[in-house]
Amino acid sequence: MMGDGEPCAGTTVGEARRWATGLLATSSETPRLDAEVLLAHVLGVGRTALLTDRSQCLDPAQAEQFTGMVKRRLKGEPVAYLTGRRAFYDVELAVDARVLVPRPETELLVETALSWARSTTAQPLQVVDVGTGSGALAIVLAKHLPGASVIATDLSGQALEVAAANVARLELGDRVTLVRCDLLACLDGPIELIVSNPPYVPRDRLPSLPADVRLYEPHGALDGGDDGLELISRLLHQATSRLARTGLLLVEIDETQGPACSALATTLWPQAEVSVLRDLAGLDRVLRVELVG
Ligand code: GLN
Repeated sequence: MMGDGEPCAGTTVGEARRWATGLLATSSETPRLDAEVLLAHVLGVGRTALLTDRSQCLDPAQAEQFTGMVKRRLKGEPVAYLTGRRAFYDVELAVDARVLVPRPETELLVETALSWARSTTAQPLQVVDVGTGSGALAIVLAKHLPGASVIATDLSGQALEVAAANVARLELGDRVTLVRCDLLACLDGPIELIVSNPPYVPRDRLPSLPADVRLYEPHGALDGGDDGLELISRLLHQATSRLARTGLLLVEIDETQGPACSALATTLWPQAEVSVLRDLAGLDRVLRVELVG
């Protein structure tokens, strides 16, 4: 808990928040949000409590921890790695430098998957999350599709350790199976629902990514090869022999990749309904391939 309202000899919540916001404005696009998330984490409270308890006092240990985190953030370390957690859809995931920080735009893929899964008659549902990272997609889909069996793959053993911890903490161990594997190579079909947020950043664009992404997040989760499409293309080819006859494939893509991805999908599945969905920023973000039997 925070202090008891006695006059503060050290730093108040309001002062700490102002100091950090001002400092972080030089290096972050979201200085106030960063300051608030870090301060709330150090104090063990929700962000709204910071506004109602502005005159509360940080104890010396809290002040020191907060200062240390703000300095690390100033150098670019992602807030989610500093706090060790990140909210995604309706779960909180443990994250660290072994996995990509889940992004809000990936929630579009979740919503699309859930609305399809709730209307399909295909039962039981086999779901595969390819390149699961922290386990975000597999976990949220398992949580909301109680009848589905979910397999999550990743090439990175370190990522699978993070995913396994999240699966266990959210008590989904009997619903989500983790497998170390190159995309879908170790799995047979038929798979009703294949979802993936693969690495898709074109290699020559990696040096111009924001510093927090470039310097701290795992390149293996970002690097999509020369045109950014290397893994997406391999995934689509692997999926041709595994996607169920009435299945759905959803792949997150870069905003520049919509036309190339829908062209490839149409070549591989001439009978499918192929579309590219836009995220809240209006950018092409998810390739959707629905087989219609
Ligand atoms: N959207 C991420 C970024 O902009 C890239 C994620 C990915 O390659 N899967 O950094």
